[in-house]
Amino acid sequence: MEALDYNAFAGECVEELKVLQNKFREEYNLSWYENWFYNQSTGLFTFSTDDVELNFKYFQVGSFSKKTNTWKWAWDNDNTLDNVKEITNVAKEFGQKNNFNKLTNAYFESDEIEAWEFTAIAAKLTNGIGTYRPVDEHLQIFLVITELVDSETAQSIKARYVECGAHEYRRIAFVCKHLNHSTKVGFEEAFETFGGMELLEDDDFQAWCNKCERVRKKEKGWNDKSMEFAQIKFVCEDCYFEMKELNLGYR
Ligand SMILES: [Zn+2]
Ligand SMILES: [Zn+2]
Repeated sequence: MEALDYNAFAGECVEELKVLQNKFREEYNLSWYENWFYNQSTGLFTFSTDDVELNFKYFQVGSFSKKTNTWKWAWDNDNTLDNVKEITNVAKEFGQKNNFNKLTNAYFESDEIEAWEFTAIAAKLTNGIGTYRPVDEHLQIFLVITELVDSETAQSIKARYVECGAHEYRRIAFVCKHLNHSTKVGFEEAFETFGGMELLEDDDFQAWCNKCERVRKKEKGWNDKSMEFAQIKFVCEDCYFEMKELNLGYR
């Protein structure tokens, strides 16, 4: 097999991305949307105008710092959540196969032109449909948009998350009104849980205290009476596990 030339390949990818990006903007009429927002937890990139939303799946390729003129691949970035960076390993593996150091080194001196090359390569290797480049102070963040998510699916993904004052945006969890961050009240769960675990579509983190458990047993399960006693509230996933640890100790 003939060795692939990095510059030729990168140039090709950049040209393809230009075409792709125009198509992406036109097909979804993106200039019509006034706002955009993306969230690592949900992995959704959202364009919106008032109540009208358009949602896409996205991942983060990497970031370029205008302060230090350096590029950092997302797979090496501890501040980036796995679900929006794991896929960038595809670019790294492709780099290993073809001896493209720029795709295998995590962090190095670079420029904006190269940052676009990396983004174009990542888009090509993952069948991306477009890109977006938010700026956070001196950091340019390069994202690849991979697919449209219909609004029903997007809403059901978003409904599984909650904004927490202490922990920012996390998965939603449900606890009885007695569970708290300072006193031990017991910790009964719907099923055995651990932090960061994957949940099935229909499962939620759910816990209640010893008092609630006594009422629940007396009522032979959750009914109007036991629910009335528990007055389930929602908290974030991290708060849930802090309460679990407080009550059961670390394990
Ligand atoms: Zn309770
Ligand atoms: Zn929290």
